[in-house]
Amino acid sequence: MGACDVCGSSEGRMFTVSMGNQTGTFDSFECAIHMMAPACEHCGCRILGHPVESEAGIYCCLHCAREAGNPHQAAKTEHSTVAVPAQGATADQG
Ligand SMILES: [Zn+2]
Ligand SMILES: [Zn+2]
Repeated sequence: MGACDVCGSSEGRMFTVSMGNQTGTFDSFECAIHMMAPACEHCGCRILGHPVESEAGIYCCLHCAREAGNPHQAAKTEHSTVAVPAQGATADQG
């Protein structure tokens, strides 16, 4: 095992991460994340949790997917419970 693919350090506990057909050698998770973690198409942050994937791109959260104008996800997350205004409010006149 050689040096870290990101920072070039070869000290510490080296490990490899494989994703698909891509493999990298790292000395820390910070470096592994830097190279391997996908970036949110909307805000650009590294996606460390479960990504929200769509045909439009990959996002860190539903909020970003919606902000990026993805009608697919937006429709999915819309709740059917709509607040209905109370009918026949008691009119206290007289
Ligand atoms: Zn490194
Ligand atoms: Zn995001």
